[in-house]
Amino acid sequence: MIQLIRGFRDILPGEVEVWQHIEEVATGLFDDFGFKEIRIPIMEKTELFARSIGEDTDIVEKEMYTFPDRKGDLLTLRPEATAAVVRSYIQHKMYAQDPVRKFFTIGPMFRRERPQKGRYRQFYQINAEVFGIGSALVDAQLIHMLIHLCKRLNVADVIPHINSLGCPDCRTAFKAALSAFLENVSGVLCEDCQRRRHRNPLRALDCKVPTCREALTEAPSLTAFLDRECRAEFDLLQESLTRLGLDYVLDKRLVRGLDYYSRATFEIQTGALGAQSAVAGGGRYDGLVKALGGPDIPATGFAIGFDRLAELVGLEREGLVRRPKLFIAALGERSRMLAFEWMNALGLAGVQAEMDHEGRSLKSQMKRADRLGAAFVLMVGEEELERGEVLLRDMTQSEQESIPLADVLERLQSLPAS
Ligand code: ATP
Ligand code: MG
Repeated sequence: MIQLIRGFRDILPGEVEVWQHIEEVATGLFDDFGFKEIRIPIMEKTELFARSIGEDTDIVEKEMYTFPDRKGDLLTLRPEATAAVVRSYIQHKMYAQDPVRKFFTIGPMFRRERPQKGRYRQFYQINAEVFGIGSALVDAQLIHMLIHLCKRLNVADVIPHINSLGCPDCRTAFKAALSAFLENVSGVLCEDCQRRRHRNPLRALDCKVPTCREALTEAPSLTAFLDRECRAEFDLLQESLTRLGLDYVLDKRLVRGLDYYSRATFEIQTGALGAQSAVAGGGRYDGLVKALGGPDIPATGFAIGFDRLAELVGLEREGLVRRPKLFIAALGERSRMLAFEWMNALGLAGVQAEMDHEGRSLKSQMKRADRLGAAFVLMVGEEELERGEVLLRDMTQSEQESIPLADVLERLQSLPAS
């Protein structure tokens, strides 16, 4: 038997309702905040990701699904969405009329990581990106939306972690200080951190290897190196979060390893997921639009880990899985054809109905109705047809009534909502 690819997974009925629920709540929230949906391809030229995510990152160094197509062009299954949204913003000159644009997009991402709970090779993200506004107020608004999305989904145990990466100017001094610090502890650093120590020391702060984490607890803090403007923006971020009534944690380890990223960076963390504690990550990437060939336009955004959020919202959330309102237990040819007509008319009227197609006994049809969780069962057989009335049984109240054949459809279409 052919099995699915390691790190990939099926999202089956029973779980998929949780995903649909999250999507509905998220798109409703985005709409209320003026975000427009954008749909972008799943594959792009490799160069787009190499340039935007950065050559020294885990993603580009070892996680991308990259292959030459039949003409030899290097293509990559997208490991994240921001680069493609930026590409699209530039390609369609969306900045021309009004540089301020707010987008969201939902879809699969691909990274060849070691699969484990909360970490897959195909996973899903919900992304939001805001172009054209440089103020930390927007970063605060994004964090506000994330926290309230979680609240609306009844996910309580979440808190924003925030940090500032400053601008490339403040980072130069910080990188020198961090590099010197790494020099001192280099004996215990992993191979990757050794290699990145000079080229991109910030990556070491993000390293997941326990010995590196331990060695870096006393590392210098970027916020101590912020220039006046970056400091003021970081203060504004904190003040605006407080104004919005949000608690937060200052987290000096939170980084993005690239020069295109600047100032606010944040993560929504939870205590409920074990090792994979980040439900969403985001931050400002003021240099990226320009770096990818567009005008100098600031931007900020976030990515929610859909799989992790779905895990938090819970698999068997009460009431999410729709059950049939009605099961039609029909006995005999004539009854079955009537049942078939009713079932289809009910479907169009928004009343989910099921029936038996195999000519089973009443007893086994009743069993099936029970298993499906149908709220009502309609019983129709030769005898009922002779009498000109059918029996409707309320499965929760264990009551039944007879209904004249002529009134059946009207009665069924107005079954009480469950
Ligand atoms: P992590 O530190 O957990 O590897 P990351 O920094 O690589 O996360 P981002 O690139 O910022 O993650 O992506 C945003 C969110 O996407 C993460 O917070 C996480 O919830 C989710 N995510 C990232 N990688 C995976 C994966 N392989 N499987 C499932 N979800 C993922
Ligand atoms: Mg990762």
